[in-house]
Amino acid sequence: MAEDCLFCKIIAGEIPSNKVYSDDQVYAFRDINPAAPTHILIIPRKHLTDVSAASGEDQALLGHLLLKANEVARAEGLADAGYRYVINTGKDGGQTVFHLHLHILGGRHLDWPPG
Ligand code: 5GP
Ligand code: ZN
Repeated sequence: MAEDCLFCKIIAGEIPSNKVYSDDQVYAFRDINPAAPTHILIIPRKHLTDVSAASGEDQALLGHLLLKANEVARAEGLADAGYRYVINTGKDGGQTVFHLHLHILGGRHLDWPPG
């Protein structure tokens, strides 16, 4: 757990969240300010500042995160219509919380390219 990390505090239960999925490696919860009808964040329990902070030892963890995101998307009923994964990285990437998170967005048509 990293000190002063919002998402580490959410994992620890120090800040309440609306849990969608949890296991020993990842935690998924609803975004507090949804950008689509379904907007879920799935995060590794391990504190990684962003995706670029991952290394070879995180290979299985990143694979697990993605496969669990697929399960969450399916369980949320997004699989047929489609959905989008987003990993904002750094300042220009629009990252505001510096604990790696994958956005799962769906439930409406999503424009491309993003703003
Ligand atoms: P980023 O911009 O870093 O990719 O995404 C951060 C996301 O975290 C945003 O979509 C924002 O709405 C969400 N968020 C920020 N604070 C909280 C919080 O306290 N609880 C929850 N559930 N989501 C949060
Ligand atoms: Zn953290």
